[in-house]
Amino acid sequence: MKTSDSKRKLLAVFAHPDDESFICGGMFAKYASEGVDITLVSATRGEMGRRMGNPPYLNRETMAAAREQELRDACECLGIGKLIFFDIRDKTVEFADEEALTGRIENLIRELEPDVVLTFHEKLGGHPDHCAIGKATTAAFRRSAGKGALYFITFGDAMEHPERYGYTHKDVIKVDVRDHLAAKLASFRAHRCQTEIDEWVWLPDREALAHLGNHEYFLKGNRDAPQRVYHDLF
Ligand SMILES: [Zn+2]
Repeated sequence: MKTSDSKRKLLAVFAHPDDESFICGGMFAKYASEGVDITLVSATRGEMGRRMGNPPYLNRETMAAAREQELRDACECLGIGKLIFFDIRDKTVEFADEEALTGRIENLIRELEPDVVLTFHEKLGGHPDHCAIGKATTAAFRRSAGKGALYFITFGDAMEHPERYGYTHKDVIKVDVRDHLAAKLASFRAHRCQTEIDEWVWLPDREALAHLGNHEYFLKGNRDAPQRVYHDLF
């Protein structure tokens, strides 16, 4: 952990509004509460999302603005201080100019000098947009040759069994987020058009919170990095 004279910084480069909340909202809230400076990139505005509200009140024209606002609200819930959109069309990140996208992220890393860079694993991302932004961010991180550490976000508690994916427990950081589940739930609710259909999100707080896990899992992106503790990204 760094000394208090230099503020710790985290850069997350994701694909869609809601990736940050649904996948690792507890981690953002935890580090924000510790004073970490957080920047989030959303490559797209999620305008091709299948969920249009319940009952539907959005269309392809109104969706981008609605989801942008929802993401801004979610960032407020989680303590994410800076939000950047790359203005790539939803579901087309894999067709974006890879060199230009990588260069853009590399410039951001050089400018911000984050201690931690978070993105999707380019093969385990689970959606073409996720894999594409993960691939570009991984390449950008390597090129920037920065001081920081790279981690891949993972889904639920899948990394309780990393050997299924060719990794070991030494590659996994398990962050305890149990003190930050209220903020995570608030961020789910901020993404209203995506979560209205999920009844559990709107149950009384106590019951809804029981649906959220106490840990979030991150995979080391630079395995040769110095050995760190297994419950903290910094
Ligand atoms: Zn996504």
